[in-house]
Amino acid sequence: MLPAVAVDLGGTNIRAALFPPDQSKPSQTRRVLTLAEEGPQAVIDRIVDAVRDLGIHDVSATRTGVAAPGPTDPVQGIVYGAPNLPGWDRVPLRDLLAERLGCPVWLGNDANLAALAEWRFGAGQGVRNLLYLTISTGIGGGAIIDGRLFTGAHGLAVEFGHMIVDPDGPQCGCGLYGHLESFASGTAIGRRMAALRAAQDATALEMEPTAAAVGAAARAGDPLALQVIQEAGIAIGRGVASLVHAFDPERVVLGGGVSQLGELIFRPARQAFDASVMHPAYRANVEIVPAALGDDGGLIGAMLLARDS
Ligand SMILES: [Zn+2]
Repeated sequence: MLPAVAVDLGGTNIRAALFPPDQSKPSQTRRVLTLAEEGPQAVIDRIVDAVRDLGIHDVSATRTGVAAPGPTDPVQGIVYGAPNLPGWDRVPLRDLLAERLGCPVWLGNDANLAALAEWRFGAGQGVRNLLYLTISTGIGGGAIIDGRLFTGAHGLAVEFGHMIVDPDGPQCGCGLYGHLESFASGTAIGRRMAALRAAQDATALEMEPTAAAVGAAARAGDPLALQVIQEAGIAIGRGVASLVHAFDPERVVLGGGVSQLGELIFRPARQAFDASVMHPAYRANVEIVPAALGDDGGLIGAMLLARDS
């Protein structure tokens, strides 16, 4: 078995790691800023530099997996584009990297790969049907169906964050309106908090807080912050109910920065889920649990993609 190189391309950071054969922990890691505003060519240069900086003697004797945000075509190896990657439009990232690195490259959606990683090494171990939502700046999703990663007919599944909750709702990161992401992402939590504060005090000119800052305010007893996080949790719980109706999983794993608000977000999510399923059978045998791999899910999933493809 060859060593695997894993790359997690994010809107803020590029992470690269070297995994020795049969290991789930990397022996080398690198993190560089994406500087996405400089466009695809500069970002691809930085990915190549980060991989070369791992100090691998012979990159051609490795296999590389890449986790990319937003819709991707894993068969053709194309990144269609993502809100946090300005200027990316159908970039054939797999083939560009294979040429530059001189090794075979596989590409997948970051949330799909994080679902794969949680299933194999994290909070999804031991089940055959698992749904995963990563709730951070946006909301991504992944699904393990009957013991394998489900990516749909064209590799575009599963964007759980873009389920329509209310077409008259707020604008989503994708540009459309009223998707789950526009109610429950970290961005949505910050925006809602700023709006409620401004409604309470018209002279308040505050920046939108981060979800973590809203969480800290909620823990300190701020009633508006508690309300905002509860509303986001309810939206997540209702969304999970729709997904459980569709997929009947054994476990639903919630990851991403917003999930780190812990019971503040899990309690209303579980209550809304329980109240929203059409029959008790749907909640009898499904658990909603926090992710276990933190920020490493995409990276570990990219390694698994390279190793298992
Ligand atoms: Zn959307």
